[in-house]
Amino acid sequence: MICQTVKPGVECVFMKKAGCGYNGGKCHSVVDECTGCDRIEELPSGQYCSVYPDPRLKWKNGTCNFATHVKKQSDTPKATLNALKASKRKAAGRM
Ligand code: SF4
Repeated sequence: MICQTVKPGVECVFMKKAGCGYNGGKCHSVVDECTGCDRIEELPSGQYCSVYPDPRLKWKNGTCNFATHVKKQSDTPKATLNALKASKRKAAGRM
């Protein structure tokens, strides 16, 4: 249904006939960590995320996975691959 709270006119899965079904009955505004993200929407009621209703929760356990202003680190998969190769070499007796 169409939002009737902080994003009027925007289609939303949380909007029901009885009102917004999201926690607190409306979207929550962005947090400091969101500064610079392209997904921030400027609305008359404030700044909101275009893809997630509660930005604070996206940053609670680390970096928001939807953030456009944060570079992802790609070191971890490479290290895992090398550990697998080392394990196979060790098993084959080629260390
Ligand atoms: S995508 Fe993440 S970082 Fe960007 S505005 Fe939304 S919650 Fe904030």
